[in-house]
Amino acid sequence: MQKHVLVVEDEAAIREMVAFALRKAEFRVTLAADTSAALVAIADAPPDLILLDWMLPGLSGLDLARRLRGEPGGGEVPIIMLTARGEEIDRVNGLEAGVDDYVVKPFSTRELVARIRAVLRRSQADDGDGSVQVGRLRIDGLAHRVFAGDDEIKLGPTEYRLLHFFMTHSDRAYSRARLLDQVWGGSVYVEERTVDVHIRRLRKLLEPHGLAEMLQTVRGTGYRFSGA
Ligand code: CA
Repeated sequence: MQKHVLVVEDEAAIREMVAFALRKAEFRVTLAADTSAALVAIADAPPDLILLDWMLPGLSGLDLARRLRGEPGGGEVPIIMLTARGEEIDRVNGLEAGVDDYVVKPFSTRELVARIRAVLRRSQADDGDGSVQVGRLRIDGLAHRVFAGDDEIKLGPTEYRLLHFFMTHSDRAYSRARLLDQVWGGSVYVEERTVDVHIRRLRKLLEPHGLAEMLQTVRGTGYRFSGA
């Protein structure tokens, strides 16, 4: 199926260039010149990925990313940020806001398309019924069971949700706050160290199957799930 990319960029020349390249690469493209147009476009037809310029008039790209992450349904869509060379990028802020990747201007459209494909691959959704497989680890979404090869791993409901989130969002670092948002739901008040407790439990359950190292601690940031 054609993937839908929303391009949010105030410079018409760049917007058109990107749209041309993406359409040629067989993406469906929606264009927005600022964040309010972007919000309308997202409500109208939720994209599979947002290409977001950092410097926009009014609300910045980073503000929009933050705002989307705080909204139901907006929490999951992958975001690639476009930044100008020399712009001081606060990657920690970007990470907190849930930005998946950065592309620095000027960029080649070939590189941009490759990065978009890579991010879309990483954020592969489950196959519709909650099932997903990464290496030997497999979630059977219909049966609500987890397997390492042929062995079943018995998980509690939180560990199950946590693992499902990680398996559909591999190779990206997530802060504790973002994991709380994504796995526990933003409205629930839970302390950040709760995340550590459940990660420890999950690791312990994966360990006998030699899979504990798939769950990696990212120093100063949070956690990452790696399929490699
Ligand atoms: Ca701009």
